[in-house]
Amino acid sequence: MKKMSYKTIHINTAVSGKSASSILIIYTGGTLGMLYDKKHDVLRPFDLEQLLEKIPEIASFDLDLQIIAFEKPIDSSNIQPSHWVELAKLIQENYATFDGFVVIHGTDTMAYSASALSYMLENLSKPVIFTGAQLPIGAIRNDARENLITALEIASEKEANGLPRIQEVCIYFDNFLLRGCRAKKVQSAHFDAFRSENFPPLAEAGIQIDYHKAFLIQQNNTEKTLQIQTQLHTNVAILKLFPGISAALVNSILQVENLKGLVFETFGAGNAPVEKWLMESLQKAIDKGIVIMNVSQCIGGKVLMGRYETSKHLLALGLIDGADITTEAAITKMMYVLGKTEHAEEIKILLATSLRGEMN
Ligand code: ASP
Repeated sequence: MKKMSYKTIHINTAVSGKSASSILIIYTGGTLGMLYDKKHDVLRPFDLEQLLEKIPEIASFDLDLQIIAFEKPIDSSNIQPSHWVELAKLIQENYATFDGFVVIHGTDTMAYSASALSYMLENLSKPVIFTGAQLPIGAIRNDARENLITALEIASEKEANGLPRIQEVCIYFDNFLLRGCRAKKVQSAHFDAFRSENFPPLAEAGIQIDYHKAFLIQQNNTEKTLQIQTQLHTNVAILKLFPGISAALVNSILQVENLKGLVFETFGAGNAPVEKWLMESLQKAIDKGIVIMNVSQCIGGKVLMGRYETSKHLLALGLIDGADITTEAAITKMMYVLGKTEHAEEIKILLATSLRGEMN
């Protein structure tokens, strides 16, 4: 991808002076900022100036706000790992200047992007809140305004000691603040687009915002410098099992040239058919150095390899236990870990360890 270009707008809205939080909004695109194009009968991203006109409330916030927008906002179905690298760099370049970050992003791939950024931003001790909407901010009835305004409020929240309340990558959507690497898009028609089935919400917004402090990640040492890992290994795949899956299909994936990692989406608590051909194919892949992580197709619960006869063989083959990780958090974790190290043992340890609270 060629170097991205950005537009920047500084809206200095803080009225109370020095103590006001400073927030950088990074606008990537998504439905929140789309307009209906009558001629072509589609929703298309509109640009930054138009977005600001639709949210006059922004100007009355007691915050120092700056907006950086992708020159050409995108539908998040077009997101690539190279965009995650751009986002990580933007956050790193602006890290010292701002107290928090709000990323406006389409909902389709938001859980992937939030997961990827959770790993890539190492030693993060400031809030990075992804948000978006199911209906555009220009629509009379919409969820965009509430999502964006509350995301800004959450990103600006500080503790009595002056430290940011949220020190991790999150998704704020439809009244809930979720850990980014635990969230999953589950709805394309209703406002409650995201769920975190295996980890409780970090906060709930009603008349006031109630934070569930016991679940928040708190850095012991907020003095550590933010590091970003921009090396992502993209020779990875997701293989979803279904009754009747053929050897030809499984092998065509496992034989992809230079494949390094596979998220194997199994049934229930991590089970797969006890078929000789399947075991042989998986064994061959592991012998070639492909790491395979067992992740459940269920949105809730966890992999328990060895509980059933149908998973004992997977345990014996040496598949990595994905526990209660989501597929989104698993595939991005593979990209991150395989980009970090080439040592087989280290890869296995990192994949099996919870790095940002993505698994239990
Ligand atoms: N297709 C849109 C996107 O992900 C959907 C949305 O934003 O809700 O960019």
